[in-house]
Amino acid sequence: MDRRPRTLITGGAGFLGSHLCDRFIAEGHQVICMDNLITGDTQNVEHLFEHGQERFRFVKYDVTDYIHVNGDLDYVLHFASPASPDDYLRLPIQTLKVGALGTHKALGLAKAKGARFLLASTSEVYGDPQIHPQPEDYWGNVNPVGQRGVYDEAKRFAEAITMAYHRYHGVETRIVRIFNTYGPRMRIGDGRALPTFMEQALRGEPLTVYGDGSQTRSFCYVDDLIDGIYRLLMSDEPMPVNIGNPDEITIKEFAEEIIALTGSPSDITYEPLPKDDPQVRQPDNTRAREILGWTPKVDRSEGLQRTLDYFRDKLDLTPTDAAAELS
Ligand code: UDP
Repeated sequence: MDRRPRTLITGGAGFLGSHLCDRFIAEGHQVICMDNLITGDTQNVEHLFEHGQERFRFVKYDVTDYIHVNGDLDYVLHFASPASPDDYLRLPIQTLKVGALGTHKALGLAKAKGARFLLASTSEVYGDPQIHPQPEDYWGNVNPVGQRGVYDEAKRFAEAITMAYHRYHGVETRIVRIFNTYGPRMRIGDGRALPTFMEQALRGEPLTVYGDGSQTRSFCYVDDLIDGIYRLLMSDEPMPVNIGNPDEITIKEFAEEIIALTGSPSDITYEPLPKDDPQVRQPDNTRAREILGWTPKVDRSEGLQRTLDYFRDKLDLTPTDAAAELS
C-alpha cells in the first residue's frame, strides 16, 4: 500500500474506542473516529487532534443511520454501543438499534469500500453461563426478554449478521468477544463495578456490592485487550475469539482489593442483585493463545494501580484532598 491505511472506528470516543484510536494512530493509520457521544466523550480523544486532520478526524454521528465516508477505507471497527448495564437499561432502544441497525450500516460500508470489518462482541452472548470457563463454541444462556436482553440479543444479532455478510457477501470479518475490561477512561458514574467501587473508595463512602458478592468476573487490563483486538484484526480468523484475562475473582473480593489499594476507610454494603446478573464469568483463552499467540500481560494489581491514578486525577482527588475528604 503506497498510502497510510485508513480506519473507521465507531464508538471511537468511548472507553475502548479511544484506546483503539491511540493504537491505530501509533500503527501509522489515518483514523476516523465516529461517535454520537451518548456515552462517549471527546475528552478521551482530544489529545489526538494534534496529529492534524489528515491523521485523525472526529465525526459526531449516530451510526444507526446510513454511514457515508469519503474516500477509501481499509478497516471498519464497530465499537459503538452503550456497554455498562446501567447505560443499556437506561438506553434500551438505542442499544438494540446500534447493535442491529448500526452493525448493518457498518457492514454495508465495509462491503462498499472493500474494507475488513471487526465487530466488538461480548462475553454477554454467553448470558448466565452453564459452562465454565466459556469457550467460543458454547452457545450461551441468555434470557431474550430479560432486562439485559437488549444488549445480549443485540450483540448476538450483530454476530449473526456479521457472519452472514462474511458468508453471503464475502466481506472479510472478525468477531472479538470482549470480557470485562478496565482501565483509564472508563466513565465515572457508568455504574460498572470498577468505576463505582473506585469512586466510592476514594470518597470514603461504602462500596455497594450487589447480592452477596459471590458472583465472579475476570478483569482484563485495557492495553492487553487492545493488543488482542489488533492481533485478531490482522489475523485471518473469521470465527469469534474470546479476549479476556482468565484471572477470576468474586465481586466481594474485588471490592476488598480496591479498598486495600486506595487505603480507604470505606466498608462494604450489600444491595439487591440485579436480575439475570451472571453468576460466573471467565474466558477460555485457548483460541486466542493458539490462533493469535495472545495472552494477557498486565496483572490486576498493576492494572488497578494505573486505573486508580486516572480516577484520582479525574475526580480531582489528590491523595491529600482524598485524605481531607475522609477526615
Ligand atoms: N456490581 C456490584 N456493585 C456495583 C456495580 C456492579 O456489586 O456497584 C456487580 C454486578 O452486579 C456484577 C459485577 O459487579 O455482578 C460486575 O458488574 P459490571 O456492571 O461491572 O459488569 P457486568 O459484568 O455485569 O456487565
